[in-house]
Amino acid sequence: MGYAPMVAVGLIRLATGVLPWFDSHDAMLVFYAGCLCEIIFTTLGVADRFMTIKRERDRARTEADLLERLSNTDPLTGLLNRRAIETQFAQLRVQGFATLAVIDLDHFKAINDLNSHLVGDAVLKAVASALQPGPDLHAYRLGGEEFVLFLRGDDAALVAERRRTAIPILVAKAVPGLQQPVTASMGLADASAPESFAQLYERADKLLYEAKSAGRNRTRSATQPAPAIFPAQQALAG
Ligand code: GH3
Ligand code: MG
Ligand code: MG
Repeated sequence: MGYAPMVAVGLIRLATGVLPWFDSHDAMLVFYAGCLCEIIFTTLGVADRFMTIKRERDRARTEADLLERLSNTDPLTGLLNRRAIETQFAQLRVQGFATLAVIDLDHFKAINDLNSHLVGDAVLKAVASALQPGPDLHAYRLGGEEFVLFLRGDDAALVAERRRTAIPILVAKAVPGLQQPVTASMGLADASAPESFAQLYERADKLLYEAKSAGRNRTRSATQPAPAIFPAQQALAG
């Protein structure tokens, strides 16, 4: 469309210059209109292309964000997953999250066995509702019936304990008719020392194991930070 008037100018000039029964005509008026048309349509064309590219970029960004969210989310409970905690760990520590709680449901296998896997899934969803995140609490499903809370604030241990004890109540409400209350055990570790997630998790998991061994439906915690290990000690420890 932009070039059409200029093509017309060329044709007029050619026709009037070649054909004997026409006076030669330079079609200057059409030429000026053609220049204007070319500028307007080319500008509109470029602007349209820019808008198309922008729209495609925005769509690609939205899709990438969605994929990122999906890859960090546990599809059953909607909580974040293990991948998310490993990615976010360093940043959350900087933001003052200094308490890690590992929560594991007690005798969960029996719930599946005595009821069904579907009922087990409903229980897991109800557990997730007891562990909903907030500004000072991030909740993750690590896998199976194991969950992790990452907390900050002076009352972090208390908040974690409240969440743990809310589990039987919320599960009973969401999944009535279970043979016995669904309880959870918890290992609570101080996460203020500079260590990797794997090291911190190992400490919290040991505490969880102690809670299980002591009879389940309880918490074992180490409120002291992990002892600082100096390089020489680390070498000795192998
Ligand atoms: P403990 O008190 O020692 O933790 O015993 P437990 O029965 O809770 O632990 P165990 O590791 O023996 O069993 C965990 C069960 O969790 C086994 C597995 O079938 C079940 N499970 C894991 N993932 C899912 C899931 O996504 N849905 C359901 N319904 N069950 C799951
Ligand atoms: Mg369990
Ligand atoms: Mg387990």
